[in-house]
Amino acid sequence: MKSVRHFLATASVLAVATTGLVAPTTMAQSAGVTIDDIMNDATTPQDVVTYGLGTQGQRFSPLDEVNATNVKNLVPVWAFSFGGEKQRGQEAQPLVKDGVMYVTASYSRIYAVDIKTGEELWQYDARLPDGILPCCDVVNRGAAILGDKVFFSTLDAQLVALDAKTGKVVWRKKLANYQDGYSNTAAPLIVPTKKYGPLILTGNSGGEFGIVGEVQARNPENGELVWSRPTIEGNMGTLDGKESTMTGTKNESWPGDMWQTGGGATWLGGTYDQGTGLAYFGTSNPSPWNSHLRPGDNKWTSSRIAIDPENGEIKWGFQTTPHDGWDFDGVNELISFDLEKDGQTIKAGATADRNGFFYVLDRTDGKFISASPFVKNITWAKGIDENGRPIYNDDNRPGDPKEAADGKKGKAVFAVPSFLGGKNWMPMAYSQKTSLFYVPSNEWGMDIWNEPITYKKGAAYLGAGFTIKPIFEDHIGSLKAIDPVTGETKWEYKNKAPLWGGVLTTAGGLVFTGTPEGYLKAFNDKTGEVLWQFNTGSGIVSSPITWEQDGEQWLAVVSGWGGAVPLWGGEVAKLVNHINQGGSVWVFKLPKQSASN
Ligand code: CA
Ligand code: CA
Repeated sequence: MKSVRHFLATASVLAVATTGLVAPTTMAQSAGVTIDDIMNDATTPQDVVTYGLGTQGQRFSPLDEVNATNVKNLVPVWAFSFGGEKQRGQEAQPLVKDGVMYVTASYSRIYAVDIKTGEELWQYDARLPDGILPCCDVVNRGAAILGDKVFFSTLDAQLVALDAKTGKVVWRKKLANYQDGYSNTAAPLIVPTKKYGPLILTGNSGGEFGIVGEVQARNPENGELVWSRPTIEGNMGTLDGKESTMTGTKNESWPGDMWQTGGGATWLGGTYDQGTGLAYFGTSNPSPWNSHLRPGDNKWTSSRIAIDPENGEIKWGFQTTPHDGWDFDGVNELISFDLEKDGQTIKAGATADRNGFFYVLDRTDGKFISASPFVKNITWAKGIDENGRPIYNDDNRPGDPKEAADGKKGKAVFAVPSFLGGKNWMPMAYSQKTSLFYVPSNEWGMDIWNEPITYKKGAAYLGAGFTIKPIFEDHIGSLKAIDPVTGETKWEYKNKAPLWGGVLTTAGGLVFTGTPEGYLKAFNDKTGEVLWQFNTGSGIVSSPITWEQDGEQWLAVVSGWGGAVPLWGGEVAKLVNHINQGGSVWVFKLPKQSASN
């Protein structure tokens, strides 16, 4: 097992300071993205101006020029290298607007690239200080865009606004102290409000360091804070520069002062549904991992929360793993969709949790609708009750170190899924054509045990040890098509290495995702048959996109192995340590003569 201390030291060494760099700016056109463009993104295939191909996060494109018959003809158009020595952990989803691609890369870099030629228009590298504390590799998942500005957050917990034409900094704001364990890796989310106009929402990372999870809303023009909402009960929110309301009720579900270092990081960012006017964020594990130190449900950790962007108030919360003891972060994206059930159309949201269960909730009020296991051999819970609460298997909670003879190592258990989850950060997709969700999942388990721990600012705050192990000989990764009405898995594609990339689905009857082995693959959305694949030269741990350019359908995916698996994966990391790192974006389309085949 690779110790946390060792990895953090490594990450700090890698995070060398870099210099800002601006390249010539001859070709970039005005981005000119409006809030309406953002709200309509899912139905306007000529651009991709949101993370998730629409703020609901469905990752469904209405394009069907590339289809099950002709996808076999797909060929690369160009590839663009992120350059430098920073070849690892490329988890970004690109944005596309007016012939320009905006794509982020590891170590808090962002590029503007000419779509037609693959030529760089500008590059911006954040100046990262020594001593940043990213838990799970130096990744960045994407940018946001509004007006003439592009926004992204950095590993030293800053939010940067750049001129979309030039890459020059317009403003830069500190979101939190990186020295305390805060960092940022998620794409920001832009939402409309009546009172303030568009706001830019950010989550935070640091659940392994005893930080307090939070969502912040800022004015995109100048970066000024409008409101903040902590996720842990007992902490105060702010609105218009003043204290607003307390999250929850102090000590209702947390003992003593532990709510002050309670985790609940919102590290994957959020989704937004215009119909309900709510922003949906997930929250990470409670801190520390050792659950015997914090009796209670520990709200709102390992949860989904719905926030009113007008004032930062929590409208509802749903806790997937109350009193988590396995690092089952509940950050997984909540995707809004219409659930057709018993002759009714329900405004639903679906989310596939780290804990191995696929949940359907009423997205208007957070009411539980259903939960079904989407990975095999789950050990920690016997099931989910009618209120959505896990029926715990108490024997599978790692033991209290105080009960051990030496007081140092509690009883170890073998738990499934592993703490890297039935599904981790990589976003699933929902097809409006098949009404199925396509979930990138992993089948694995872990030895896990608890240890004593005390909080120290800026230090890992786990109180646990662990080793991840495979549970099947032939595969860990498993792409599944799941029916949200029944919870049934309609098809499964097994992949030897763990899946760590996002999914895209299209009206052309296709599902796209990448593999650590380097392939971008296209699947038949009804059968799971592999119809096309292309090896990008390094592992894919990012989310593909598609858009229409000059009457043709294009696709893009970022390639570059890394992320949490090689760093935290225990015995699984050994199975994938031959995979070469990289850093590039690949673009594909059909040759013109094949488009009609
Ligand atoms: Ca669009
Ligand atoms: Ca965690």
